[in-house]
Amino acid sequence: MLCAATASGQAPGSRFRPETASRSDIRTAVASIDSNFPKQVDEWIRIARIQGKSGHEQERAALVRREMERAGLTVSTDSIGNVTGRRVGVGGGPTIVFAAHLDIVHPLGTNLEVTKAGDTLKAPGIFDNSASLANMLAVIRALNAAGVKTNGDLIFVATVQEELGLRGMDYWLEHNPRPDMLVAMDGGLGPVNYGALGIYWSKYHFKSDGSHTVTSRGKPTPVKALAAAVARIYALTPPPLPNGAVYNVGQVHGGEIFNGIPQELYFTMDLRSPDPVLLDSLDRTIDGIVADAARAEGVEWRREVVQRNGAGGTEAMLKERRQHPLVLTAIDTYRFVGIELPAGREAVATGSTDANVGVVRGIPSISIGRSYGGNQHTLSEWADWPSALKATKMVLLLATSMAGLPGTGAIGP
Ligand SMILES: [Zn+2]
Repeated sequence: MLCAATASGQAPGSRFRPETASRSDIRTAVASIDSNFPKQVDEWIRIARIQGKSGHEQERAALVRREMERAGLTVSTDSIGNVTGRRVGVGGGPTIVFAAHLDIVHPLGTNLEVTKAGDTLKAPGIFDNSASLANMLAVIRALNAAGVKTNGDLIFVATVQEELGLRGMDYWLEHNPRPDMLVAMDGGLGPVNYGALGIYWSKYHFKSDGSHTVTSRGKPTPVKALAAAVARIYALTPPPLPNGAVYNVGQVHGGEIFNGIPQELYFTMDLRSPDPVLLDSLDRTIDGIVADAARAEGVEWRREVVQRNGAGGTEAMLKERRQHPLVLTAIDTYRFVGIELPAGREAVATGSTDANVGVVRGIPSISIGRSYGGNQHTLSEWADWPSALKATKMVLLLATSMAGLPGTGAIGP
C-alpha cells in the first residue's frame, strides 16, 4: 500500500494532495496495481523477450497496441511506428503525454532470454526500457479498473527509435497537437530530469589520392590531418558538465593496407552539452579545427551530420522550469510512494530521453524512473523487479494529480 510518511515536506506549487490518494477511486486503482503486480512482472518479461532493435519494434508495438485496445483506449499507429493510446478526460484539464520507448540497442538475434534470481531480472533491454512499457500498461489498466476519470486527456505513447536520437518522439510532436506536458518513462529511480542534454553526432571524413608507401614521401596523407585535428580537439577545455560540455571521439576508421597512404578515413565526434550556445560554439570550433588541419595537410574533408538533438539549457536557464508544477508534483509523488531522492538533487536540469524533444520545444517535460537497475545497453543489463511497483504507483499519482480529478477543482496547464 501507499506510504504517506514522507508527504509532509510538500512543495508549494505541487499539484499532489495526499488526501487525493485516499479518495476511493484512487485507492482502488492503487490496490489494483498491487494485486496485479505479479502479472505486470510476467508481462515485463514477455516484452523483454521480444526483439526490438531501433527500427525493428513492430512485434513489441503489436503487443502494446493489443493491450491498449483491450484496455479500451482509442489506439492508433503512425507511419513511423509509434503506438498512441488516448484516455480522454472529462474536460477542463491539461493534456499530458506519457511516453515509453519500445526499442532496445541490441542487434536482432541477441539472446533476450530473461533470468530471474531473487529480486533481479537479467536480460539485455530488461531495464531500458521494457520495464516502462509494462509500467505504462499497468497504469492504464489500474485507471480503468477503478473507473478513474481525469479532467485532462492522458495520452500514452509507445515510441520507436528513441535510441536513434529520439526520432519517434520527435516525429510524434511534429505530427500531433502540442500537448501541455510530456513525461518520458525512462531511466532509473533517481532525480527527476527536467532538462535536455544536447547531443551532436558527426563523422569527419578525410580524403586523399593515396599512394604506395615507396612513393609516399612528402605526399598529403589524411592520417596526419586526422591526427592533428583530433589532438587539437582534445586540447580544448570547455567547462565540465553539468552546465558545460563533454565530447568523445568514439571511432577512428580507415585504411586497409600496410603499404599505402589511405584514400579515406573518418573519425566520429560525440559532443554533448545542455547549453545551446556552448554546444553550437564548440561545434563550430571543431569544424574549424578539422578544416584547418585538412587544409594544412592538403587533403579534402567533409562532415556528415549523423544526429542532432538540441540542448534544453543550463540550470540557470531552466531556473523557472525547476519550479514547474510537473517537476514539483513528480518529486512529491516519488516521496509519497516511498522512493528516496538524493537530498538537494531531487531534480536535475539534464536528460537524455524522449522528454528532450519536448524540453527543446518549450513544453514542460520530464523523465521519471521505471525501477532500480543497471548496466543498460550491455548484455549484463539487470533490473530490480520489486521496485517497479512503487514506480508504477508513482506514475498513476502523477498522471491523476497533473490531469486533475473531477470534483477537486479544475486545473489549467
Ligand atoms: Zn531508454
